[in-house]
Amino acid sequence: MSDDKPGSDTRLVEAGRRREWTGSETLGGGVVNVPVWRASTILFDSVAAMRAAHPHGKPEQLFYGRHGTPTQWALADALTEMEPGAEGTALYPSGVAAIAGALLALLSPGDELLMVDSVYGPTRTLCDGLLKRMGISTRYYDPAIGAGIADLIGEATRAVFCESPGSLTFEVQDVPAIAAAAKAAGALTIIDNTWATPLLFPALAHGCDVAILACTKYVVGHSDVMLGSVSAHGDAWRRLSRHARETGQHVGPDDAYLALRGMRTLGVRLRQHEANAIEVATWLDARDEVGTLLHPAFASCPGHELWARDFTGASGLFAFTMRGASAAQRDGFVDALTRFGLGYSWGGFESLALPVDPVRTARRADFDGPLVRLHIGLENPADLIADLARAFESLRVA
Ligand SMILES: *Cc1c(COP(=O)(O)O)cnc(C)c1O
Repeated sequence: MSDDKPGSDTRLVEAGRRREWTGSETLGGGVVNVPVWRASTILFDSVAAMRAAHPHGKPEQLFYGRHGTPTQWALADALTEMEPGAEGTALYPSGVAAIAGALLALLSPGDELLMVDSVYGPTRTLCDGLLKRMGISTRYYDPAIGAGIADLIGEATRAVFCESPGSLTFEVQDVPAIAAAAKAAGALTIIDNTWATPLLFPALAHGCDVAILACTKYVVGHSDVMLGSVSAHGDAWRRLSRHARETGQHVGPDDAYLALRGMRTLGVRLRQHEANAIEVATWLDARDEVGTLLHPAFASCPGHELWARDFTGASGLFAFTMRGASAAQRDGFVDALTRFGLGYSWGGFESLALPVDPVRTARRADFDGPLVRLHIGLENPADLIADLARAFESLRVA
């Protein structure tokens, strides 16, 4: 990285907008955004030109639609630019497809994967289903393990998978210590970095080899596109990019365009999500109905001190327990919210609430009540707080 590397907001504005993708010399200018190139067939001027265009080793050259057009290349280029240390980025049609792509590219039958116990549910389903059937075994570890991961790494361990903070329960992991222990033992460190994005936690710079994003969430940012990405370097990047090509991974140009458009405002959106979420979480923290606030920026969240050490900010997703409430009361609380939407996913401009029941197998999950997960959007926090207050009030009346 050179000393004059521009700041992350500048890079978000400039990334992927290569002159050869935004205009042409014959047209005399260029547009601001790389256009949507829709293509399956690419036409060549001669057989010789067609042969010369073969994509192996020259990925950013028109050859056949499956290998992408400037629209997809610009998004991949921008994601690589935003992840310091990355050599390249592969795109996938969803976050889960990106996770599956990374694991299948890097693991083989007989290998063992160490998986954080607080991982996103569908990742667990993939490990316990397809990977198991392929002869790849998964051992779940406590998210608080830190450097202690070294004791679990055996002969067959090929990779350690982190997700920090964890899904639903938000434990922050000591990723640098885990990555250092994995590296010393010859294993790769893979991280699902969807919550933080490289803006709040540059994962490769913290020692990870492979960084996965469900771009569906903050990169797209508008709840209207499914997309995933994997950024990596070194041998892991070569294996990943080959696997993505071999398995025909492709994302539609309209989706790639929308994701790239979303990226331009990722910095300002994340700062506002953070500020709004902290305002709402601070209010919740003072409520009698709230047991434990599971927000990495608050001391009550396991691993808070690691968040303070390693992250440059928080995003807008967190959870809290409803002290002493029954699951039915918790569900009633969520139903009583009118401004928060009820639905899966997160990372869009709108607020969402979800009743969640985490599954843990490495360590018992003990909470002082049922959990509610909130995604805090870009509304005025006072309106969201009023909605939450009303829903708590309806509980008391009921
Ligand atoms: C949503 C999510 C995914 C999956 O992304 P999809 O695009 O919905 O497939 C992966 N990891 C985390 C942490 C997520 O929240």
